[in-house]
Amino acid sequence: MPRFRAILDTMPAYRPGKAVVSPDGRSYKLSSNESPYDPLPSVVEAVARAATEVHRYPDPAATALTEALAERYGVPPEHIALGAGSVTVAQQLFETVSEPGAEVVYAWRSFEAYPLLADLAGATSVRVPLAGETHDLAAMAEAITPATRMVFVCNPNNPTGTVVRSGELKAFLDRVPEDVLVVLDEAYREYVRDADVTDGLTVYRDRPNVAVLRTFSKAYGLAGLRVGYLIANEPVAAAVRKTMVPFAVNHLAQAAAVASLAAEDELLERVETVVGERTRVRDALIAQGWTVPVTEANFVWLRLGERTLEFAEACAAEGVAVRPFAGEGARVSIGTPEANDTFLAAAAAFRDA
Ligand code: PMP
Repeated sequence: MPRFRAILDTMPAYRPGKAVVSPDGRSYKLSSNESPYDPLPSVVEAVARAATEVHRYPDPAATALTEALAERYGVPPEHIALGAGSVTVAQQLFETVSEPGAEVVYAWRSFEAYPLLADLAGATSVRVPLAGETHDLAAMAEAITPATRMVFVCNPNNPTGTVVRSGELKAFLDRVPEDVLVVLDEAYREYVRDADVTDGLTVYRDRPNVAVLRTFSKAYGLAGLRVGYLIANEPVAAAVRKTMVPFAVNHLAQAAAVASLAAEDELLERVETVVGERTRVRDALIAQGWTVPVTEANFVWLRLGERTLEFAEACAAEGVAVRPFAGEGARVSIGTPEANDTFLAAAAAFRDA
C-alpha cells in the first residue's frame, strides 16, 4: 500500500450539487448556481467546429481567448491568467503563494473549495465568521498575521449572496500588508446590480497585491467546459501562469469561451432575466415569511439551522435540488420561471407544514 498524505484523511469532501427527480418525474437543478439556459447555438457551433481539431493539443497560452478577454476588459493580455475553471485558478493561487505553515484568511461560511484547497496546499485556514451573513472585513483585517499569504474576499459571497460595499473594501485593502495577496473572487460579478459594489477590475491596477477571479461557468453558461481566469498586475498574473498544468484549458473550452464573448449581449440579456427572477423569488419568499438576505448573485440563501436537511428533502420531493449546508441553511439557485415557481411552492408548503 503506498503511503498517502495524512491530510487526505481529514479533508472535507467537496459535495457537488446533484439533480433530483420527484416521484412524478420532475427535475429542477437549483443546487450549483449554473445558468438555467441551454448553450447558445453559436457557442455549440464553435464547440462542434473545434471538435474536428481535438487530435491536436490546445494552444497552451490560449492566445485567442486571452486576447478576447483583454479587449473585452481593456486590460493588457499580460494581466490575464487562465485556468480550468476559476476553482483551478484558485488552486493555482495557492501554488503561487503558499508554503507549509502559510495562513490563508477567508470568511466562513464562504465558497466550499477554499478550505479544501488550503488543506491540499498545506496551508492553514483562518476562518473569520460572517457578521449578519456578510463579510466582516474589519475582523478579517485583524486576522492577518505575519504568516498570512493570501486573503479571499468572495464578492458576492457564496452561499449568502451578500456583498461588501466599496467604502468597506477600500478601507480593508488599505489595511492589508502589501506582501499579502487579496483575491477578489467575483464568480458572480455579472449578477451584481448594487452600484456601491466595487468591480475589482477598477481597483486592481493601483494595487499590486490584488487579483480578481472570474469565471465562464455562471453568467456565460459554460460550467461543463471549465474556464476561469484571473486578472491582476503582471507579476501576479505571470506567477500564476507558471503554476498552470500544461494544456489545462482544453481546446473546446477555449473555443466556447471565445464564442461566448462574441455573443455576450445575448448572454447578458439572460443574466438580466435571472436578475429579474431573483427579485421575484426573494420577494415571494419574504411574503411567505422567510428572512432572505439581499442577494446580488444568482441564488438566495435561507438560514434554516436544524431544519436544513428536512427542507432540502421537502424540495427534493418536488423535484427541486437545492444545496443544503447541514445545520446552517440552504442555497437555492435562480432557475427558469417554472423551476422557481416549483421551488416557491415547496418553500410555502414547508412553512405551512
Ligand atoms: N468561486 C465561487 C465563489 C464559486 O461559487 C464558484 C463555483 N461554485 C467558483 C469560484 C468556481 O467556479 P468554476 O470553477 O466553475 O469557475
